[in-house]
This record gives sequence, structure tokens and C-alpha cells, in this order.
Amino acid sequence: MSRPLTATIDLKALRHNYLLAKRLHGGRVLAIVKANAYGHGAARCARALADIADGFGVATIEEAIQLREAGITLPILLLEGWFEAQELAQIQHYQLWTALHSAWQVDEIEAAEINAPLTVWVKIDSGMHRLGLHPDEFPAVAQRLSASPKIAKLVAMTHFARADELDSQATPQQIDRFQQAVAGLGLETSLSNSGGILAWPKAHGDWGRAGVMLYGGAATDRVLANWPKPVMQLDSRIMAVRELAAGEPIGYGARFHTERPTRVGVVACGYADGYPRVVPAGTPVLVNGQRSRIIGRVSMDMLTVDLSDCPGAGVGTAVRLWGEGLPASEVAAAAGTIDYEIFCNLKRARLNYLD
Ligand SMILES: *Cc1c(COP(=O)(O)O)cnc(C)c1O
Repeated sequence: MSRPLTATIDLKALRHNYLLAKRLHGGRVLAIVKANAYGHGAARCARALADIADGFGVATIEEAIQLREAGITLPILLLEGWFEAQELAQIQHYQLWTALHSAWQVDEIEAAEINAPLTVWVKIDSGMHRLGLHPDEFPAVAQRLSASPKIAKLVAMTHFARADELDSQATPQQIDRFQQAVAGLGLETSLSNSGGILAWPKAHGDWGRAGVMLYGGAATDRVLANWPKPVMQLDSRIMAVRELAAGEPIGYGARFHTERPTRVGVVACGYADGYPRVVPAGTPVLVNGQRSRIIGRVSMDMLTVDLSDCPGAGVGTAVRLWGEGLPASEVAAAAGTIDYEIFCNLKRARLNYLD
């Protein structure tokens, strides 16, 4: 038997979640597949969405070229734009769309040696204070770019810092600042990530940018009526079992001592697979569908679980690390992070696609 750790990717659920994003947003929606589609496999996910998506978003030109080479002909937006001027020729060659987030890029695109004009999404900093032009300088820049022969089309975009926080006033403030900056310019607009699509209808504009919700991730701090389905099931098996008396240590650093006579299952999954090492004892797993807990430290290739209340479990029993029945956000919370990071960190597991 080869090592059993498998991430099963449910492409039907991915399509369902994309169509949910489209329906909730009401306009066109880019499927964000950066970071290898949040660990789900960018080329396979993009191909599975190609007949229903309006386009894709990635972080780097390498990610975009990978999609073109996988046969994707839909629009692909570089969400961070370009880093060096010579990428503009590649942007033209691969027919990519690019973000523009800083004044230095305005000069570079005007000076670019390209012979076909580009579609450019100009980012406005409406309050996140990471990338984007100041709202006050945006109208002049938009007019200057609109007049440039290097530009085919401009879209105005912004990004929310706190769209997941349903009780915060930060998102309505960002929406207001953005609307003031674009007023009267007649540009297409794009404001919402997953949190915006799910929770902030005033932020919908012409284009949504759905990322984590496509993968069934937790895009807001409360579960809402229309909630995406989990896409990835991370499953492994028990590879060894031992019976320990009360008071025995388990694993590196003896960080856990059995509180009672304990059956311990060793599971083929560790931090080299992307499972977070920092999780404490008690972090949930599903043993044959039944909730149990990790005991002892997660090691590189293995982790240990409590089988005391799972009498039927033994070598070969299925263990789910996250997926249907155990949201990755629960594991993420135990690790002090978010499911986005849990998904992106996945590696070494076999990827198995269900059409
Ligand atoms: C990653 C990203 C998104 C997607 O965000 P989610 O919260 O995963 O939906 C949208 N817009 C931009 C600019 C991004 O970088």
C-alpha cells in the first residue's frame, strides 16, 4: 500500500461554489486561482470552471502562463500587476489583464514597447493601505490612462481589509471612498472578494473576485444562509496502533501524557504535508466519520490520535483531517490561523479529482 494521504478535490462542489458566487454577486466574477488555486491545483480547477467562469485571477505571471499552457483562453488578471517593465511584453503576448497599483507603473506602461493596447485594472486604496492609488489622485490618473494608446480598457478596483467582519463599519467606509473616487468616470468597477460577495451587496459593482469561497473556505466570521460547500477532503489512514497505560508520554517532547489507558492511532499525515505543527492536543479529526482528537505533537510525517472511544478503529481505518464534517477553519482556529493558509500550505499529499 502506498502512503494513503490524499486530498480529494470535488470539482462539482467547486463549480457549485462558483455559480453561487455569480448568483449572489449578480455581475461577472473572476475565479481567483492564485497560489495553485489555494492548494487545490490551479490548472485542474481552472479547466473545471472554464465553461462557466468569466475569467481568472492570479498573483504572478508564472501562474498566468501555466494556465495559458493548460489551454485556458479566458481572461486572466494579474492581481498584483507587474514587477518589472519587461513583463509588459509578456502580458501582451499571453493576452493577460493586469492590475496597476502605483504611480511608477503609470510611467512604465506609457513607455512600454507594446503594439496592442492592454486591459488594465487600476487599484484604488480605499482604506486597506497596502496597494493602490490614493482616491484623490485616481480621477486624474484614470483620465491620463484613458488617453494613452497603450490602454484598451480601464477597470477601477479596490480591495477590502475587513469584508469578513460582518459587524465592522470598515467595509461600508471603503465602499463610500471608492464610489467617490470613481464617480462620473463611467468605468467598470470591481470591489468584492469572497466576503464582499457573500455579505456586502452594496459592494458588488461589475466584477466580483471570488477566492476562498470557491474552495468552501470561511469567508466571513459567521456562517450565512448561502454557504459554499467544502471542496477538499484531506484523508489518510491509521498505520499503527498501540495501547498505553495511564501516564505515558506520546511523541516528541513528551508534550502529552495519557490521562487514562489509551489506544493511540498513528496517522500518516504530518507537518511536511502542510498539517500545522502548532495545533494543541484536542484538535479534532474524524476517525471513520466520528470526532476524535489529536494527542501529542504533530511530527513531520505522522500525527497521533486518541482511539479510546473508537473501538472499531484499527490499522487501515480512515481518518479525515479536514473536509466535509470537519471544516478546515476549525483546524485553522486550533493553529491560530485561517483556512486560507491551511489550504495553501498543503503539499506532498496525492491530489485526486472527482469530476
Ligand atoms: C486573493 C484576492 C482576492 C480573493 O480573496 P478571497 O478573500 O479569497 O475571496 C480578491 N482580490 C484580490 C485583489 C486578491 O488578491
